Amino acid sequence: MSGITIALSKGRIFEETLPLLAAAGITPTDDPEKSRKLIIGTNRPDVRLVIVRATDTPTYVQYGAADMGIAGKDVLIEHGGVGLYQPLDLNIARCRLCVAVPEGFDYAAATQPGGRIRIATKYVGAARQHFAAKGVHVDLIKLYGSMELAPLVGLSDAIVDLVSTGGTLRANKLEAVEDIMEISSRLVVNQAALKVKRELLQPVIEAFAGAVTP
Ligand code: ATP
Ligand code: MG
Repeated sequence: MSGITIALSKGRIFEETLPLLAAAGITPTDDPEKSRKLIIGTNRPDVRLVIVRATDTPTYVQYGAADMGIAGKDVLIEHGGVGLYQPLDLNIARCRLCVAVPEGFDYAAATQPGGRIRIATKYVGAARQHFAAKGVHVDLIKLYGSMELAPLVGLSDAIVDLVSTGGTLRANKLEAVEDIMEISSRLVVNQAALKVKRELLQPVIEAFAGAVTP
């Protein structure tokens, strides 16, 4: 495609990206929450949006199926960032990656150097790195959703998950015991597209940069 294709996921990333798109003079012609279309046009004939699963955004951009996209740091860490230029932290979809345990679980005892802990998570890369740095052996169990359930039914001792308000943890009698990192979403750009389509992409990157709220 000669124009620009931007990969976005539905939900918070799409909603929080709308003001950034507006700053670049881009208005979607459909609402992905209402429409079942996966390719959404915009007011600009040379700009289209593709609606993908949040974890798939880096993959679409890596292979050039989308020229740019917006993805959480959590997703980018697990993906590895191969082939992606990451020019901007957009400071949207903010949350924390945390270790959480059932209320009353002795996390300090379990994570003494040389200790061993069983962790259920979608974020196995970040979790492995975190516990390796602490010198704690970790048995990782990969899950794809509802991590909070795992320690309640004996699948794991603890979870590594994203937390914003902590409401879901409290509702399941879990507590965050350690912050691993702050998470926000970044603009990712295909490196080859940036060279070939620089005159189209650069103004969008600059408009986004000017619209980021600190
Ligand atoms: P699904 O919820 O459909 O399983 P998902 O979790 O991959 O998909 P979202 O929930 O839309 O997708 O999350 C997209 C991104 O938003 C995440 O990768 C993360 O960076 C961020 N995010 C996730 N949960 C929260 C949260 N509770 N508060 C703020 N940002 C969040
Ligand atoms: Mg989610």
